[in-house]
Amino acid sequence: RAKYQGKNDFRIYHSLSDEKSFKRLTIEKDIHTVLENNQLEVYYQPQYETNTGSILGVEALVRWNHPEFGLVSPGEFIPLAEATGHIFAINEWVLEQACKQLKDWHKLGYKMKVAVNISPQQFYHKNDLVLKVKEVLHQYDLDPSYLVIEITEAIAINNMDIAIDKLYELKELGVLIALDDFGTGYSSLSYLTSLPIDTIKIAKEFIDKIGYGSANEAVLSSLVTLGNALNYIIVIEGVETVTQLNKLNKLNCHLMQGFYFSKPLPVDEINKILQDSALKIH
Ligand code: C2E
Ligand code: MG
Ligand code: MG
Ligand code: MG
Repeated sequence: RAKYQGKNDFRIYHSLSDEKSFKRLTIEKDIHTVLENNQLEVYYQPQYETNTGSILGVEALVRWNHPEFGLVSPGEFIPLAEATGHIFAINEWVLEQACKQLKDWHKLGYKMKVAVNISPQQFYHKNDLVLKVKEVLHQYDLDPSYLVIEITEAIAINNMDIAIDKLYELKELGVLIALDDFGTGYSSLSYLTSLPIDTIKIAKEFIDKIGYGSANEAVLSSLVTLGNALNYIIVIEGVETVTQLNKLNKLNCHLMQGFYFSKPLPVDEINKILQDSALKIH
């Protein structure tokens, strides 16, 4: 390569934005075959009970093992999958993997929950999400109350009535519903009481602002108060520092998730954490 380096070799001058668009174009091309090439993997991030420190559940977060780029984050390909319609097949796959894994954990004696993220489109698609959830629960013979479906406020944008109907159909199966990234959506608070949700996950941006002014902390604590008043299970996401943790411990929130405790990890590594935490109890 050095042989060609010189002022006439334009290739060494390519800009970062060229690299980015190359990656984007390649990903756009490769997403069509991501499932058949077996390139997806589900990582899991533990959720800890605030009072006891035990792991009560995990969130399933999909990763793409790309042959050229390594691990591609969902932030990079989920929006693309949503735009191209691949999200349906991809998310059905994630749901199946997560439920299969949940069954394995339950067989090993780890009675925890698994949360799966669902895209807004899936609520309106002819491939019925509710039917799929029902099938998968049956296939792995799962207690539905251990499956959490994570939605965002964006599901209510297009058609609030359909969203509410679908959520009630899901609730009838016995699964739990969590509202993700709470506090960042476009909807007003008045819609909250019309949605049959069990859990709110307070968005990371509120946690990031801990230590940056009492006004920010007042907003956070009033979200937690609101959640408790409505009897939701409150999950804090994106806990990164001990300073944040100390503040959060003074609020009444039930579950914590974040890099301070653990990053999302492959199954093997989650199993090590589960073994270690079981050892501590016995
Ligand atoms: P989300 O559901 O809000 O997931 C939380 C994101 O925050 C995850 O990013 C997680 O790795 C990250 N996170 C957790 N704790 C911390 C922390 O302490 N610090 C920081 N900086 N980040 C933290 P990830 O895995 O990159 O996922 C991003 C988003 O992609 C998710 O946000 C979710 O909306 C979407 N996503 C992931 N997997 C799926 C999936 O299977 N289906 C769908 N439809 N969306 C998915
Ligand atoms: Mg989520
Ligand atoms: Mg979130
Ligand atoms: Mg999100």
